[in-house]
Amino acid sequence: DLEKMENTDMAKESRKLHIFFIPFMAQGHMIPMIDTAKLFAARGVKASVILTPHNASVFAHAIERAGSSAGGRGSSSTIQILALELPPEFRLPRGIQNLDESRSESESGEFMRASTELEEPFRRLVERHRPDCVVSDYFFPWTADVAGSFSVPRLVFNGLSFFSLCVDDSLRRLQPHATATADDAPFNVPELPDRIELTKAQLPDALKYRTAFTELFERVHVAETKSHGLVMNSFYELERKYVDHFRNKMGKKAWHLGPVSLCNKDMSSVDMAERGMKSSIDCNDCLSWLDAQKPGSVLYLCFGSFCHFTPSQLVEIATALESGDCSFIWVLKNGTTLPDDFVDRTEGIKGLIIRGWAPQMMILNHPAVGGFVTHCGWNSILEGISAGVPMITWPVFAEQFYNEKLVTEVLGVGVGVGNRSWVSWESENSDVIGREKIENVMRSVMGDGETAERVKGKVQELREQGKKATDVGGSSYDDLSCLLKELESLCC
Ligand code: UDP
Repeated sequence: DLEKMENTDMAKESRKLHIFFIPFMAQGHMIPMIDTAKLFAARGVKASVILTPHNASVFAHAIERAGSSAGGRGSSSTIQILALELPPEFRLPRGIQNLDESRSESESGEFMRASTELEEPFRRLVERHRPDCVVSDYFFPWTADVAGSFSVPRLVFNGLSFFSLCVDDSLRRLQPHATATADDAPFNVPELPDRIELTKAQLPDALKYRTAFTELFERVHVAETKSHGLVMNSFYELERKYVDHFRNKMGKKAWHLGPVSLCNKDMSSVDMAERGMKSSIDCNDCLSWLDAQKPGSVLYLCFGSFCHFTPSQLVEIATALESGDCSFIWVLKNGTTLPDDFVDRTEGIKGLIIRGWAPQMMILNHPAVGGFVTHCGWNSILEGISAGVPMITWPVFAEQFYNEKLVTEVLGVGVGVGNRSWVSWESENSDVIGREKIENVMRSVMGDGETAERVKGKVQELREQGKKATDVGGSSYDDLSCLLKELESLCC
């Protein structure tokens, strides 16, 4: 009987779809792609996450843990890492292994260029393993040619919102900014389901001038046309008008599987504490500090893995935090200096300062947290919504100004701090948001006024809908079922 069972398990194993997941080397790309791979593995797919050797070692434990929970009796783990074998001449600038570690715009450009050299090592892995499908980061357009040459279907993962893709499509095709009278003159983004206004100052450089990114995005668009569709980290109830617009008006094939971070069920687990990177603060210390705070009284400030602020902007934030009514957790890039007296008077008393990497999901899901100042990276927004935490939006670059509109105007789950200009790298010339503005918006979201009640109510509603979407029979669960069925039919 045992032998029979083992044979059945082996037969099942050989019928499993084998999918490659290749994320770009940046936290905001690797984290959601690995969560997506875990989702597939939990549904019986053999998932291989393709990483550079350094990043493979960073994520090894997380993948091992996911493998042991996804792999059933008798079957080997259904999620694994495959490390790219890099040629000896492969060099990343300053040896950095992750785009977030770059220190200047030119260094990030160099990093992006170096990453194209991963094509040959990736080709060798595809040749050796012959996966049934490749889920590729959009920053790797060259995976379309590799997948194509082995007739393997490619799916694109960009980790963006449907909303931002709809805005981007309108801006590219119709160029409404070309006739804007001034940099700060609002114009309507045409042909969208809602009236959305932006200014030229809020648009990415690559849309206004030719930059290295303009070229990358051209290649990204060509690669998309050679792909089978897009895998999205979102859920239907969150952006239904934009999901429909994307599919029906823009004619794209896409499956929404998110919020993918909800594949991590235990919020106090090591997966939360070591998400992406080992946390720079002892998680138990952080939890005991939070336990001692009143429910909904802590403001969490984190600007993702990439944003840099000028010293003068940091002083304005520090002053607002010190004079405001709420306590706080403020996450800063390593090496950031704050005024000594601010640190002496507040650290461990009114707030926690985390230099480096914060256990963001663990913090957001703690009942003491009542607000989230976010740079509007899409992962952070989804994580804030999934935790039911209202937001203060402070977009800086990339597509963050588009996401701000979704959060504040379409969904009504946050209030903007009022940043007006897109900058890829903060310099002393960047706009500084003053302390009064910051304090006012903190009061309106963290206080007990009408705005606070409204945004809290809306975000709690969306939190429930997000959870339902990923449960069995929910919209994201069902979309993954459809995608798996389609991939099975393609492969047979
Ligand atoms: N993150 C974290 N700790 C930090 C900073 C970021 O865990 O100190 C995680 C965050 O939870 C999210 C990702 O890193 O999953 C950042 O992605 P996002 O799209 O929000 O911003 P990006 O870093 O790509 O600008």
